Amino acid sequence: MIPPSFAYHAPRSVADAIHLLGELGGDAKLLAGGHSLLPMMKLRFAQPAHLIDLNRIDALRGIREEGDTVVIGAMTVENDLIASPVLQRRLPLLPEAARHIADPQVRNRGTIGGDIAHGDPGNDHPALSIALDAVFVLEGAGGTRQLPADGFFLGTYMTAMAEDEILVEIRVPAFAPRTGYAYEKLKRKTGDWATAAAAVVLRMDGGTVSHARIALTNVAPTALRAADAEAALLGKPLSEASIADAAAKAMAICDPAEDLRGDRDYKTAMTGQMVRRAIARAAARCS
Ligand SMILES: Cc1cc2nc3c(=O)[nH]c(=O)nc-3n(C[C@H](O)[C@H](O)[C@H](O)COP(=O)(O)OP(=O)(O)OC[C@H]3O[C@@H](n4cnc5c(N)ncnc54)[C@H](O)[C@@H]3O)c2cc1C
Repeated sequence: MIPPSFAYHAPRSVADAIHLLGELGGDAKLLAGGHSLLPMMKLRFAQPAHLIDLNRIDALRGIREEGDTVVIGAMTVENDLIASPVLQRRLPLLPEAARHIADPQVRNRGTIGGDIAHGDPGNDHPALSIALDAVFVLEGAGGTRQLPADGFFLGTYMTAMAEDEILVEIRVPAFAPRTGYAYEKLKRKTGDWATAAAAVVLRMDGGTVSHARIALTNVAPTALRAADAEAALLGKPLSEASIADAAAKAMAICDPAEDLRGDRDYKTAMTGQMVRRAIARAAARCS
């Protein structure tokens, strides 16, 4: 299938891209890896008159440390997340989870920023970002602002980003020592989006849970933070009962769409299983 025709722009700086966005308004779309946008254009779900390609803006790529914060450029591709020694050392959840995103070809072009900005509840980075307490840096004509991942995803394909803004960086606090983590993703086959998935980040202190983040993928119109499930673990030793309670509380907030991956009951039940498995695997990594 061939997408509708469009004018192509290739700015070399974020400032130029913002200028173009302002000039072209709602007729323009940013192009990152193109692995969500181009399929939508081919299906005529999106018909932008202008594409502003971010691929020639070097400043938007790369991973660096700023003290205890890891800063990831929005145009960093999945394969670079997987290969990053900084992430393997300081935020190993991200390279591990990125291996479960799509397939090697898609991961070679698909960017973390595009995955987040697209606002697709099936994408994995939204829940990962919530579990990691990530902050998104947005730049627009009005300046720069930072928004936490928790609260950024407003609905299917809807985020808190304004039309004239660009996601430039993802800032993530590096894991403290002995942080446990896991991303459990049930999928029908390699390369598929999640039937249900759970991201868990855990820390234990003196035998009790001192930090818990649980976030869910593809079981509601947006990625979800399972705050009640986190509360079911906090301040207690981990036990069969507390893990079961957390899984039940995560299932209680699921609102999945029925599709070829399963009906609502199945997806909700699988969410409970993913949460149980992710907590158990994260806990085993806390020591
Ligand atoms: C076969 C297949 C399987 C897939 N499986 C998965 C999967 O399992 N998990 C998963 O998470 N994803 C999956 N994807 C989606 C893939 O990860 C996409 O790459 C990702 O959703 C979008 O990133 P992109 O860089 O390709 O963005 P694009 O497609 O270029 O852009 C997506 C949207 O985000 C906007 N945008 C892009 N970058 C920015 C920015 N910096 N600032 C503001 N707006 C921006 C664009 O304007 C567009 O609206 C799959 C894709 C395919 C084709």
